[in-house]
Amino acid sequence: MAKDNTEQKWDKIIIVTGGAGFIGSNFLNTVVSRYPNELFINVDSLTYAADVGNLSVADAPNYRFAQVDIRDTHALKSLFDQYAPTHVINFAAESHVDNSITGPTVFIETNVVGTHNLLDLSHKRGVKRFHQISTDEVYGSLSPDDVPTDEEAALRPNSPYSASKTSADLIVRSYHKTYALDTVITRASNNYGPNQHLEKLIPLFITRLLQDKKVPLYGSGRNVRDWIYVDDHVEGIDKVFREGKSGEIYNLGGGMELENIEIVHMLLALAGKDESMIEYVKDRPGHDIRYALDSNKATKALGWSPKITLKEGLARTFTYYKSHKIN
Ligand code: NAD
Repeated sequence: MAKDNTEQKWDKIIIVTGGAGFIGSNFLNTVVSRYPNELFINVDSLTYAADVGNLSVADAPNYRFAQVDIRDTHALKSLFDQYAPTHVINFAAESHVDNSITGPTVFIETNVVGTHNLLDLSHKRGVKRFHQISTDEVYGSLSPDDVPTDEEAALRPNSPYSASKTSADLIVRSYHKTYALDTVITRASNNYGPNQHLEKLIPLFITRLLQDKKVPLYGSGRNVRDWIYVDDHVEGIDKVFREGKSGEIYNLGGGMELENIEIVHMLLALAGKDESMIEYVKDRPGHDIRYALDSNKATKALGWSPKITLKEGLARTFTYYKSHKIN
């Protein structure tokens, strides 16, 4: 099969897996037009979490889509034969913690084995950089008094989802140490913004409030999360991908620690509703109390920091779901 890179000399040929999901689509919608001399190949199996309608760059000359499952080694080999990628950014994952409790197997298959399939081919085909998109959940739960976790903190995942992401991070590390593959890992906090699947807390709550339905809040709502607007995460990924040091890990936190109940109050205010719309439900098993990230490394080394306040980001997100996702 003719290699796609023969049609034009691209500066980079970048496989972006999971690009039809929430963060991957926001990333592609930014970088495809920012880097017209680079070819971006969105590789996505289109699970329930994907929506190709998330992509505003589908007609761009430097964008391709390939429906490929990263668990399928034969399909991946054909893809690498066809495109000869120079770089890989791996967003593809099963990403919903609740689903990992009811059905963990696919989390291991996609998040661990799928990542390894990509690493193996990247190493064998001389890929110049492999960027793994990871999460703060690998560090496990913090107590209220603990300092935010930096990149040296112990890995203590508690759910099958976070354990699968941790395993992937460790295999990425091994490919750097053993085979000298150029790798970077970014670990972000809870993202919110346009294109997120309605199963996740913020879009779920916004859409329910807009439909005049109650919002189901786990436990007492006192669990603390650090929120980052997806555009800030996208900018951090782009920085680390281009300027990050090989073999390094960079935390990308939003610096916005809030209890879930505080988020709900902000959403209630945006929707013009009161507390009677909250329905407290039985807590999720193993529900982590608090995540908080220390992102000083990315700030000092790369000059990255989140720019969008929670108030502004939530208002933008609310407006987006109001106009897009309600049926
Ligand atoms: P998402 O669930 O919205 O999207 C995942 C995408 O991966 C989907 O398009 C899906 O079709 C695709 N995919 C799943 N399995 C696949 C497979 N076997 N082969 C090919 N494609 C497959 O997830 P997201 O929220 O955009 O998260 C993207 C990445 O960022 C994940 O690796 C996740 O662990 C990480 N992350 C997410 C958050 C967050 O708050 N959402 C925070 C930190 C890190």
